[in-house]
Amino acid sequence: MASNTGGGAKRRPRRTPHELTVKQVQRPVPRVVRVTLGGESLAGFDQPSPGGHIKAAFGWEGERPTMRTYTPRRFDPEQLELDIEFVLHGDGVASQWAASAEVGDRLTIFGPGGRYKPQARSGVFVVVVDETAMPAAGTVIESLPAGTRIIAICEVEDPSDERPLSQTVEVAPRWLHRSTHHGEPSALLSTAVAELPPEIDADWFVACEATAVRAVRRHLLEDRGVDPERVQTRGYWRRGQSDYPDHDYGED
Ligand SMILES: Cc1cc2nc3c(=O)[nH]c(=O)nc-3n(C[C@H](O)[C@H](O)[C@H](O)COP(=O)(O)OP(=O)(O)OC[C@H]3O[C@@H](n4cnc5c(N)ncnc54)[C@H](O)[C@@H]3O)c2cc1C
Repeated sequence: MASNTGGGAKRRPRRTPHELTVKQVQRPVPRVVRVTLGGESLAGFDQPSPGGHIKAAFGWEGERPTMRTYTPRRFDPEQLELDIEFVLHGDGVASQWAASAEVGDRLTIFGPGGRYKPQARSGVFVVVVDETAMPAAGTVIESLPAGTRIIAICEVEDPSDERPLSQTVEVAPRWLHRSTHHGEPSALLSTAVAELPPEIDADWFVACEATAVRAVRRHLLEDRGVDPERVQTRGYWRRGQSDYPDHDYGED
């Protein structure tokens, strides 16, 4: 099967720990906490790739740290600051840590990982994401050439979760609200993709719940005949499964 790296090889996060301190906590919308982390150890942090990730450690399970995967939304190598946007989905060590995060708290991270190089071969790029992948979608669209036509479909709980994908790239997403449909997570995304005009000639970034991402990938490859090289699909979490892996490309 063709690779689903969209032109880049997969990169494992570096094992060097970065011991960081919370410098700022913001709530851009009620269900998202944006944490700005800082610390001298960010001097050795590489600029993350679009859609890249870090591993954050939340305590220990025996001899292994309890790790979760997040998107480095903004890295400022001069100020040595890193922003991470946590969705408050409820039960989960990371979600709960973010819900009570305060200035001065400590967090150890590893990374960054990922080598995705988004391309807009025909000048059109489609992002299809839930709220966990909105930070990644922001980094992806900010990496595209100016003038790229961006089509964005975002699934969130309700209208209070709507927020810009980027401060620098103007895009008007189509918002889908789970609260009005009560279906499986990310199922609205599959339906909305199927409703897009068949003639769209685009590159795609699709990231959401792992079962739904497979449905979208199948639709793109089998029904629309999209070249797999033009499709980056990522399962970011799976319903009922804690500690979901960071390398689910939705290909199985
Ligand atoms: C490459 C990559 C980048 C990611 N970037 C981000 C990011 O920037 N921001 C972000 O918020 N998340 C991001 N995620 C998703 C995040 O890693 C998962 O949501 C993770 O499960 C959260 O850890 P937790 O400790 O809160 O919950 P866990 O302990 O992992 O899970 C506990 C329970 O919560 C459920 N659950 C997990 N996530 C959700 C959710 N979103 N909605 C509903 N139920 C859920 C699980 O199915 C499980 O039943 C990313 C994932 C990947 C692979």
